[in-house]
Amino acid sequence: MRTVIILGSGPAGLTAALYAARANLRPLVVDGHEAGGQLTLTTMVENFPGFPEGLMGPDLIASMRRQAERFGAEFRGGSASAAELSRRPFRITIDGAVEEAATLIIATGASAKLLGIETERKLMGHGVSTCATCDGFFFQDQDIVVVGGGDSAMEEATFLTKFARRVTVVHRRDTLRASKIMQERAFKNPKVDFIWNATIDEIRDVEAGKVTGIRLRDLKTSAVTERAVDGVFIAIGHTPNTQVFRGLLDMDEVGYIRTHDGTKTSVPGVFAAGDVQDRVYRQAITAAGSGCMAAIDAERFLEHTAHV
Ligand code: NAP
Repeated sequence: MRTVIILGSGPAGLTAALYAARANLRPLVVDGHEAGGQLTLTTMVENFPGFPEGLMGPDLIASMRRQAERFGAEFRGGSASAAELSRRPFRITIDGAVEEAATLIIATGASAKLLGIETERKLMGHGVSTCATCDGFFFQDQDIVVVGGGDSAMEEATFLTKFARRVTVVHRRDTLRASKIMQERAFKNPKVDFIWNATIDEIRDVEAGKVTGIRLRDLKTSAVTERAVDGVFIAIGHTPNTQVFRGLLDMDEVGYIRTHDGTKTSVPGVFAAGDVQDRVYRQAITAAGSGCMAAIDAERFLEHTAHV
């Protein structure tokens, strides 16, 4: 039986691993289906404290992983497909094999929804982004589009006008889903304009290794147009990676795990950290912070239960 199993290897999982390893808990970290998490989909990270020149997202993740390994964290590939949390030890099925754990830290993150076109993945981090806070700064004085009609899209569009020359929101309908106040803020901003009833069919230019334009399809007339842009921000929502825990842990209506008193979930001994329980901040540094909290919470839980 493992003392601690950590599901997920983004900043939350890796920081939990570092702290749990340094507490001699010999954690097992299960990489998950997107090893390294969303930071591996970005390029330069300039807002992680301690790196004044910035560093590449994948390099930050690789360093965090090495640091956790140095203190004895063990890693394995794969992802959890089933869990039994009704009694301890918890039983987690990972690629067909069952692992038992005295405590579980869930740091499986949330995945940004994508449009489903091939070129968006290829240009991710090279002009395509799912995080304006992370990448907006790189688009000084440029033309960018934001896809989506919800609060995230309005927030990102408004935020991006701090940097961009023009921000065009592309939405698939002719009314927004966003709250009135967020809509009004975007409508009032002279740098924001809208293209309604449209979808992006293609992002160019994979061969050049950067975004140079998009092909838009009008969903009412099917007319296709080209547009030169420097960046594409996709803000069509996130999906927390909690399918395995549906019905086992308390979650909100979208599937984010509800935590209380730090990182505790509705099942004692199960903790949640990072984007899987955070639909507000979603930053690498906040994920790392909550990963640290989860490891400390797990350690205290183990100390307490060992004495009862
Ligand atoms: P959301 O409310 O689900 O909106 C997603 C938007 O993306 C919708 O407009 C949707 O279009 C569009 N969309 C979805 N799939 C698409 C696709 N495949 N292609 C093109 N467009 C697509 O998601 P969200 O904006 O991320 O917000 C999530 C939650 O967080 C909401 O409860 C929101 O209020 C909250 N939030 C709040 C704030 C804030 O208050 N500051 C900021 C961000 C988020 P349709 O409208 O046609 O469905």
